[in-house]
Amino acid sequence: MVLSVGALRRDMNDLAVETWRKIETGDEQGLAFGENSLTDHNLWTLAQKHPGLNVHRFSQNREKETGADWEWWIGSMAQGWLCLRVQAKRAYRRTYPELDHAGNGDDDYQYDTLINSCDLLRGEYPLHVFYNGWKRKYFGHDSGWAAPAKWRACSGNAGPGKCWHAHPVHYGCAVASSFAVKAVHDLRCSNRRMVTAHLSWALPWSYLFGRSRLGRRVRTGAAEPKVATATPEWLDWVQANLDSLVDELPADADMRPRLPGSTQTDDRRQRRAEQLPAYANAVRRGTVQDSLQEISFMSPVASCVIVLDIDAEERGEADNHTGGSLDYEAWKARQGDLG
Ligand SMILES: [Zn+2]
Repeated sequence: MVLSVGALRRDMNDLAVETWRKIETGDEQGLAFGENSLTDHNLWTLAQKHPGLNVHRFSQNREKETGADWEWWIGSMAQGWLCLRVQAKRAYRRTYPELDHAGNGDDDYQYDTLINSCDLLRGEYPLHVFYNGWKRKYFGHDSGWAAPAKWRACSGNAGPGKCWHAHPVHYGCAVASSFAVKAVHDLRCSNRRMVTAHLSWALPWSYLFGRSRLGRRVRTGAAEPKVATATPEWLDWVQANLDSLVDELPADADMRPRLPGSTQTDDRRQRRAEQLPAYANAVRRGTVQDSLQEISFMSPVASCVIVLDIDAEERGEADNHTGGSLDYEAWKARQGDLG
């Protein structure tokens, strides 16, 4: 069995909804989940559910130098690797106040540091993941959408509430190009930190790995991805999708990503890392604990690292995800029999 992209995307949507609820109701309860807590839960859950995904949080890392909260490596030894380098920002009421966070050294802002740490020619993409949640009419739109932000989730030009591809709560985890975040924030106008300004450039994070192709009456839960399983062709699609995500910017953006003109698949494949860095390879093999002494030499770029090896199951290295948990399931089943 190869990793099912549809299942992965459904789980990412479910986690986006859960994240939304945590912020929507948690803040009121004084349970203000922070970015790290949300990231830990979301990445851990995905790794639990999908063999081929491995995750680790490093206490020693170069997050300050790179501005990266987490990194997602996707690929294989044979196909090369893409790196999604992510800064996570959560909404506090109507804004993302931490976008004002200063950068490292000479960088004005933390997003400049993140952008500068990425080399697009080596398949490293700077991204923001926004954690969102609010009450239905908070922005005055009955669907729950943060009007007047542009709704980009629909390929059929339907608006929020009418669109079957995505629901506003799927923006509980929303992804945007850090170049777009920079373009909006650099405007220095009053809405540069506003949720509404940034969501116009964001998509549900499940869109990173596939787009739903739906008839008008099909529900979101039944959405099929464009490519069904994590294959080399799927990796090509993910990369093309990332290219278009970082390439699409506000017209008045000062800084544009340096992507080569060619969109040939073979040329794209040249823009990947041939090998994983040592820390990510240790995560991939699930051997970080064995190599903790070497961790200072590994110098992880972000504190949290998740690796999706599309060839993992062929090597049979992913079986540490099942059968653990102290045989609790067997105990519970027997308890049921006795009751
Ligand atoms: Zn739609």
